[in-house]
Amino acid sequence: MELGELLHKERDYSRDEIIYLLNLKDTRDIHKLYSRAQEITNEYFGNMVYLRGVIEFSNYCSEHCMYCGLREENLILPRYRMTAEEILQTSKNIYNSGIRTIVLQSGQDSFFDTDLVSYLIYSIKRQFDVAITLSLGQRNFEEYKTWKIAGADRYLLKHESANPKLYATYHRKAKLDDRIQHLKYLKRIGFQLGSGNMVGLPLQTVEDIADDILLCRELDVDMAAFGPFIPANNTPYQNKKAGSTELTLKTIAVTRLVMRSSHIPSTTSLDSIDTFGREKGLAAGANVIMPNFTPHPYREKYLVYKNKRGIKFEPSEAHLAIKNRIEAAGKKVAYSKGHSLKMRVTA
Ligand code: SAH
Repeated sequence: MELGELLHKERDYSRDEIIYLLNLKDTRDIHKLYSRAQEITNEYFGNMVYLRGVIEFSNYCSEHCMYCGLREENLILPRYRMTAEEILQTSKNIYNSGIRTIVLQSGQDSFFDTDLVSYLIYSIKRQFDVAITLSLGQRNFEEYKTWKIAGADRYLLKHESANPKLYATYHRKAKLDDRIQHLKYLKRIGFQLGSGNMVGLPLQTVEDIADDILLCRELDVDMAAFGPFIPANNTPYQNKKAGSTELTLKTIAVTRLVMRSSHIPSTTSLDSIDTFGREKGLAAGANVIMPNFTPHPYREKYLVYKNKRGIKFEPSEAHLAIKNRIEAAGKKVAYSKGHSLKMRVTA
């Protein structure tokens, strides 16, 4: 099949076709891929970019992910937990900025137990008309259910790698199957589901990335998130090479072709390895940006990787800078909750 035909195919891309697209080398071909992805994005979202305000409320973590700066073994990283009052104040800042999704993100920190997280969800929902996304790592099934009932709308849990061998290598022998069971359960009890992985992790191949995309399709995720791997200080992978802008953009674009209406963020990690990372992501099929509202002095301590962009800024400045960049790129900020388009079908 020639490229033009492949780019206009409706759904059901095969694994080989996905690999073929990820392997495109010719600059003109790659640009055809990006522009087809953007065309599909426009069909579903127009030129609107959805914003989600992120609060990184704790960097304590009981996990051992080889790539992540928050891993428990990193004794050099100063740890923090925001208080409930600080989290509610930051939620108010997000609400006052006009953004209508609040993402509560942390390391895997059991201090924020079932009750405390429920209290946060309930308090935020009572005060502000927003959607809430939880990104707290792999917790237990009862907790997910309680948090759903407390009012949380979405759960973001990246599968990180769809290759079971690599998954076990990155996560001290943890099982990919378990992660997938969690993702399926979250979806089943009614969360809008976000998943995805890093691009350019050590040992990862293009075939693995194709399987990552296929897993997102199989899970029918509402958001698929891909950012480049960037080495983090004080981790086993601190001297490894970062993922590339190009392969990340190709992954975003191919995912847009395969997933059509799912949300896809243009991530902070992509923006951290490339001056125009956000813009390039938006031009290759992404339609979501997640500005970081974590206040100082915590902001500079949520170091999942090196040279994270924007940590020195005031949160409100960071948001405005992003808004300006979106508008300069000819797009518009959507100040709405930005629920999954799939919800409309069932709602
Ligand atoms: N603890 C939660 C989320 C916090 S980390 C969880 O396990 O889901 C948020 C995301 O940062 C992770 O899902 C991972 O994909 C990304 N991340 C971690 N280390 C990274 C690195 N070195 N480079 C790029 N992204 C990284």
